[in-house]
Amino acid sequence: MNPFAYTSPKSTGEASSLATSKDHSLPVLKSGGMDLLDRMKEGLDTPGLVIDLTRIDDPALDRIEAGRIGARATLAAVSDDEAIRESAPMIAQACGSAATPQVRNVASVAGNLLQETRCWYWRMERFDCVRKGGEGCPAREGEHRFHALFPEGPCLMVHPSNLAPALLLLDGSVDVVGGPRTSIPMADFQPDPARDWRSTSVLAPGEVVTAIRFDPAPNSGFVALKQKQSFDWPMVSGYAVLDLDGDVIRSARTCAGAVAPRPRLLPAVDAALAGVSIRDDAAIRKACDAATEGAAPLPGTIYKKTLLPVAIRRAVMAAANPGGDA
Ligand SMILES: Cc1cc2nc3c(=O)[nH]c(=O)nc-3n(C[C@H](O)[C@H](O)[C@H](O)COP(=O)(O)OP(=O)(O)OC[C@H]3O[C@@H](n4cnc5c(N)ncnc54)[C@H](O)[C@@H]3O)c2cc1C
Ligand code: SF4
Repeated sequence: MNPFAYTSPKSTGEASSLATSKDHSLPVLKSGGMDLLDRMKEGLDTPGLVIDLTRIDDPALDRIEAGRIGARATLAAVSDDEAIRESAPMIAQACGSAATPQVRNVASVAGNLLQETRCWYWRMERFDCVRKGGEGCPAREGEHRFHALFPEGPCLMVHPSNLAPALLLLDGSVDVVGGPRTSIPMADFQPDPARDWRSTSVLAPGEVVTAIRFDPAPNSGFVALKQKQSFDWPMVSGYAVLDLDGDVIRSARTCAGAVAPRPRLLPAVDAALAGVSIRDDAAIRKACDAATEGAAPLPGTIYKKTLLPVAIRRAVMAAANPGGDA
């Protein structure tokens, strides 16, 4: 790991100023450090200054309430929070399913949204690729079984965050300080991967995330299909929000995770679910099959075409029955 200076600012405003300071090369913000320290150890990030947000004395950064979560709240705290479990169970489930208990006790909400790709070629310093500013994509001809089912642009990565699709589906937004704006809609938080395949977000240098906001959705659900049930990212994940009239789905919104470089909304599924009874298993299955419309699998990701409708259907059932088993 490169030598670096460390600082613990007293406010997010000070953190923002330090992040654009010319006194150090490549200053970087750190929350839980779960992703950042891995990147530093591999030599992928070589900051001259690490700006630690965990010592800022501001309870709002950790506060969790219906519709708003402080940026520094841990995934464990979110998944255990009664207000979130009732008002937006999909958010609690997405946070509670990520990683391991140890990681969730440290990992922050902001860091989860801003974690870098899990592409193993990207994660190893010795490989070069377009996402690193070089040439080509070794995953295309190489080992890509956890990569995209819906590639967009030259990088075949999938977005790694459990939380990002949930926030998108709930018309969420990200509060920021340190720039010209105070809020970024989640729909705009990630760049279009066909135009910018290098950035994890549209945040400008010096912008610090302070909270996320989202609409309530008591009938919402998340399901991850994983190779192993802990210590891993999903192969495919499904997200659903339902508006129910008794047993009938008045309207639905669904989204897929781990299949594209950014969360993928599924309007064809939403349209097919409208008017369907949650007891009509055949109709739900048929509607969820539309999740693969537009898929362009790589040889190694064809299996995701089978998994995706299953994940979406289970998420729909979880949303219909938020307190029960999916
Ligand atoms: C074994 C393992 C399994 C995992 N499985 C999953 C999984 O299934 N699903 C999933 O979603 N994640 C998973 N993760 C990833 C984990 O959830 C993230 O690494 C973690 O949430 C990052 O949060 P952090 O607070 O540690 O971020 P950090 O590592 O501190 O920061 C990550 C990035 O965010 C930036 N950042 C942090 N806070 C702010 C802020 N307030 N404003 C602006 N920028 C900021 C940092 O500069 C950095 O670039 C897994 C991790 C491990 C180790
Ligand atoms: S998938 Fe993206 S991050 Fe991975 S090697 Fe290809 S260009 Fe790089």
